[in-house]
Amino acid sequence: MALAALTTFPSVLCYHRIGGPLELGVTRVGRSVFARQMTAVARAGWQTVSLAEFAGQTPHAARRTFLLTFDDGYASLADHAYPVLANLGFTATTFVITDFVGKTNTWDVRYTWNRLPHLSWPEIAHWCARGFDFASHGATHRRLTWLDNSAIATELVGSRDVLTARLGPDAGRAIAYPFGAVDARVVRHAESAGYELGFGGVKGSGGGGRLHLGRIPVYSWDAGDVPFGLRADGLGALGRIVAHAANRCAVGTSIMRGVGFWVSGVRHHSLTPDT
Ligand SMILES: [Zn+2]
Repeated sequence: MALAALTTFPSVLCYHRIGGPLELGVTRVGRSVFARQMTAVARAGWQTVSLAEFAGQTPHAARRTFLLTFDDGYASLADHAYPVLANLGFTATTFVITDFVGKTNTWDVRYTWNRLPHLSWPEIAHWCARGFDFASHGATHRRLTWLDNSAIATELVGSRDVLTARLGPDAGRAIAYPFGAVDARVVRHAESAGYELGFGGVKGSGGGGRLHLGRIPVYSWDAGDVPFGLRADGLGALGRIVAHAANRCAVGTSIMRGVGFWVSGVRHHSLTPDT
């Protein structure tokens, strides 16, 4: 049952930053590009699902729906992304780093070279009330697979406690693992912390079931009308879409690493996709 459900889940798109300063980081998508993509997707008949709808999705209802996700919770989302989505009748799920809500980031300057503000709790509450979902991206954006058991528990339980205390029980439903880094041990911790859904990197895995789901990242070169992740839509052949997108993303990752090598010399090793 779990495996059957996995293969028929809607596609999950993952964006990071929308708009804001240009820099080497590959996780920024321009504001106008994002608006164009979402408008094209809406015109093509796609609809977003809420996290609750995603969790309860029945197989035949999966056609032409997708879960739109943002990682890291940058403040620019409220300026550049949420209003566009609200106008289209779309919703989204944002995975926030709970210790950095309302603060300026110090955790990924190696990716962006800029210190960027994160969404504040009042902004999150405002958009939560408008039907947008918020969930955990850890407490401090540490790579969970590198931590010992107690540190993993601190990240998972701590961020979930903060979210549910501020926003209610629905905010404790899901986690996107920082850097997409997840293994069987992390999945066990996520389960015991009370998460229902866990999102990893591009491929996901059947082994962890609903706590190890894949996503399709959208990077800066994905600037066409319809994000690659949804483009090869065989109108309902979701398995094929996801397989195609995963394939393409694997190539994309290699290209990105090559570009990082070329541009940034010694810093290349840090230019892995930040999910
Ligand atoms: Zn992240």
